Amino acid sequence: MDTLEMLYEGKAKQIFKTGDPSLVLVRYKDAATAFNGEKKAELSGKGELNNRISSFFFQLLSNEGIPHHFVREVSAREQLVKKVNIIPLEVVVRNRVAGSMAKRLGLEEGQILPQPVVEYYYKNDELGDPLLTEDHVAILNLATPAQRARLKEMALQVNRFLSEWLDQRGIMLVDFKLEFGTDEKGEILLADEISPDTCRFWDKETGERLDKDRFRRDLGQVVESYRKIWNRLEGDSHV
Ligand code: ADP
Ligand code: UDP
Repeated sequence: MDTLEMLYEGKAKQIFKTGDPSLVLVRYKDAATAFNGEKKAELSGKGELNNRISSFFFQLLSNEGIPHHFVREVSAREQLVKKVNIIPLEVVVRNRVAGSMAKRLGLEEGQILPQPVVEYYYKNDELGDPLLTEDHVAILNLATPAQRARLKEMALQVNRFLSEWLDQRGIMLVDFKLEFGTDEKGEILLADEISPDTCRFWDKETGERLDKDRFRRDLGQVVESYRKIWNRLEGDSHV
């Protein structure tokens, strides 16, 4: 596996070519970054936990009929996925106010939203991933109106399923970010990762944050919190 050609190195993952042109290998790094790469650290064990947690969630979503890129885990920090053309949008779903929404709208963190809120951000580091309206998505040709509608439908479907599933295990799904891509047939697949790096998970009883906010806000116990999430998932006998 060490000799594979690297196609891309991002902030949290590396993508490698495989012998099959329709598949790529994803290696999860221990690197943690926040604020568009301004804050950085190496967190030993994070890569393995995110690989495991993300693999687990994608497998759960298979049972819900959500088309996705995940094929199988290859090692502790590597997974095989279907290669897609990533749609340069970050689709965020929120169930409670947190993070940038609290700042932008002057709302209190933790407030329950009367309905899930879907937001689109332009995946563009140079521009600092700006928030987009549906019209912005259209004029930038980032997705057709039909594709955009499908992204929203899939994101809400993921939210309905995961928020209920996690709630039963004592975890609040506050918000999360999804990425999608198209395969060679043009079908939209859920891609990238679903992990404590990309979701806000709060303990239902204590409100403790078990996600990347521990790193963003210097709360400490980052990897320990990711492990708490993994232990709660792993404790489940359905997968
Ligand atoms: P970033 O690019 O934001 O630093 P990562 O370090 O997570 O992010 O890098 C992973 C990259 O791989 C992201 O740009 C993501 O869009 C892309 N990606 C995720 N899933 C796939 C896939 N199935 N096929 C091709 N690229 C993917
Ligand atoms: N998120 C992400 N990648 C990003 C931006 C946000 O995974 O580049 C996730 C983040 O972890 C949270 C949700 O999307 O679960 C909403 O993030 P928010 O807009 O509040 O931004 P933040 O203040 O966390 O940067």
